[in-house]
Amino acid sequence: MPAKRLATDAINRLAQRLAGTVIGPGDAGFDEARRVWNGMIDKTPALVARCANADDVVAAVEFARTHGLLVAVRGGGHSVAGHGTCDDGLVIDLSPMREIRVDAVERVAAVAPGANWGEFDRAAQAHALAVTGGIVSATGVAGLTLGGGIGWLMRKHGLTADNLLGADLVTADGQVRHVNPEQDAELFWGLQRGGGNFGIVTGFRFRLHPVGPIVLAGWVLHRQEKAHEVLRFYRDYVANLSIELTTIVILRRLPQLPTLPPFLHGMPVIGIAVCHAGVIEHGERAVQPLRAFGPPMIDGIALKPYVSHQTMFDAAQPPGRRNQWKTAYLPELGDEAIDTLVAAARSMPSPLSVLAIYQLGGAAKMGDAAFCVNAAASWVDSRDSEANAGWTRSFATAIEPCSTPGAYVNFLGDDGQQRVRSAYRENFDRLLALKRRYDPGNFFRLNPNIDPTR
Ligand SMILES: Cc1cc2nc3c(=O)[nH]c(=O)nc-3n(C[C@H](O)[C@H](O)[C@H](O)COP(=O)(O)OP(=O)(O)OC[C@H]3O[C@@H](n4cnc5c(N)ncnc54)[C@H](O)[C@@H]3O)c2cc1C
Repeated sequence: MPAKRLATDAINRLAQRLAGTVIGPGDAGFDEARRVWNGMIDKTPALVARCANADDVVAAVEFARTHGLLVAVRGGGHSVAGHGTCDDGLVIDLSPMREIRVDAVERVAAVAPGANWGEFDRAAQAHALAVTGGIVSATGVAGLTLGGGIGWLMRKHGLTADNLLGADLVTADGQVRHVNPEQDAELFWGLQRGGGNFGIVTGFRFRLHPVGPIVLAGWVLHRQEKAHEVLRFYRDYVANLSIELTTIVILRRLPQLPTLPPFLHGMPVIGIAVCHAGVIEHGERAVQPLRAFGPPMIDGIALKPYVSHQTMFDAAQPPGRRNQWKTAYLPELGDEAIDTLVAAARSMPSPLSVLAIYQLGGAAKMGDAAFCVNAAASWVDSRDSEANAGWTRSFATAIEPCSTPGAYVNFLGDDGQQRVRSAYRENFDRLLALKRRYDPGNFFRLNPNIDPTR
């Protein structure tokens, strides 16, 4: 329903019911409230309900149902597909709900759905604890967790969702459910992989692990001309790597950041970034071959606070730029995949884009995938959109023969229903049964959607 047809008194009643605020077109702050991380997304909702607590979320869900409004659920706003906002509907914005409580004795954290990884990491690291989290600190805990969650600790401690102990969930019927493996194992499983399809989480409970607070982490950098050799070395290096070490390969031009010496600005590089989640001496041994190979142009692996490693990529991923991603799973890093990745890196139209290869394995299980790759195009000027979108599409086509079915749902863009379905792989039918049970009307559809009507 378009904004103009929502009666003012209905909006006022919602505003009175909420502890949080309601923002509509014309209100101060509306432009900021409708925006998300990806500057490609330019949508105008009828209303934004900034919820302050779970009762507000119930009220917002009831309001949307009564008025037949499309609903977008927003945690940290980092969905590259732009699922955190919408045209003409209601944005249920959880960003005011940021409370984080850490029980250091039980090693458990209760996290509200508007918190981001920077906030959560800092709270947990105050007790030298952590759970696998996103590698850019402004990313929302909520969306990342509900799609799986990959990050620096994953090969030792599993995906973020594997560490979920329970969640409070508001379903499409407005009911509040306390979901955990003991009381509702099936719905709990669905929350761990279903990407927001089953309702709105108003509180997460996570298991935490001892981590740091000082870890051995950073990256080695090589010039991109050596990318073939580096990737062949990397393939052998990770084949029997300790699960305490998680690695991510980055191919890009180095950004113009004050933290980097000017001679590196704009230089095409291949970096192998690492984080060791164990005894430091073991880490030193594990990274030794990385430091020896080449040798690297820069060896930036050092002892540092885990929270600082978790912000290593922040400055290169600011909000507001235009972004389009294409992702794939690789069963191995074969020669053809290496050729494809290097060719894609060399043909990036934008100096802001990144090609990333995330090493899975150990406790980070995603079917038979050994690596998750993501071609993340990023640019500023709308005149460059076609060239950059074309680059991601060409990459998707070129990498397809080397890939294994499925995709990481949190990296999907607007890829179409068939791609979403195949992303869920063998879980799809089970997720579909759950969706039909808890959300038969597809009230929560702005997500990697499991359409219950199909
Ligand atoms: C710069 C950047 C870095 C990233 N790095 C990583 C990374 O290291 N690891 C990784 O795994 N992913 C990463 N991602 C992907 C990220 O996991 C997804 O974009 C995720 O959706 C972000 O969550 P959010 O809460 O910020 O997003 P939002 O856009 O707010 O939410 C995305 C979707 O999640 C669902 N959702 C959000 N909150 C709730 C809730 N409380 N209840 C129910 N559903 C909800 C909704 O469907 C919503 O549309 C990154 C993304 C970006 C842009």
